[in-house]
Amino acid sequence: MESLTIKGKRVGINVLEAKATQRCITTECQSWCCTGGVWIDSWEKEKILAQAEKVKPHLPEGRRDETRWFDGERDNHLDFPSGWGEGTAVVDDPTHPAGTTCIFLRPADRYCALQTASIANGDHPWSFKPFYCILHPLTIEHDHLHLDDANEIYHEGGHCQRPHDRETPLFVTFRAELEHVLGEDGYADLLRRVGGSL
Ligand code: SF4
Repeated sequence: MESLTIKGKRVGINVLEAKATQRCITTECQSWCCTGGVWIDSWEKEKILAQAEKVKPHLPEGRRDETRWFDGERDNHLDFPSGWGEGTAVVDDPTHPAGTTCIFLRPADRYCALQTASIANGDHPWSFKPFYCILHPLTIEHDHLHLDDANEIYHEGGHCQRPHDRETPLFVTFRAELEHVLGEDGYADLLRRVGGSL
């Protein structure tokens, strides 16, 4: 099978392949994908800071100072609309097997405080969540939409999958993530071109 171009994005072959896996559950994976934080676009940082008072109640008391939420390592990033990115802060968490996590990962339940705050405020669960967190374990680099499996976090347990006795194409397992990028019409086009159905 070859990669497909949908709405200007090349959907990688590794998204079209089947694996004997299903979607993860946080009680098992401990949100391992959040152990290293995430790079976010400058406008996403501004959006999160604008919602700071809504986010703070969903974080442990020691993490409510918004001046500590980002690591200050601002850098060029071609895949970000603004051209600039910055990392979320990574903090010690002795209760997590990795020992450190993104500052927004709640030790109590391993949920993202940005997602928890969105839900609590009646917004879409992904309203405050960074784009690359929504997409994970998929990613986009220069319009190449693919499974981001060539990195340490993926192989340590941040792959967002758990074993299953039946093979399922990854584009089915990660339908919500793909629809977020391609839209419902783009996802329907993908299914049509691989011979699937909704
Ligand atoms: S912002 Fe949320 S989803 Fe993204 S790495 Fe941090 S805790 Fe995880």
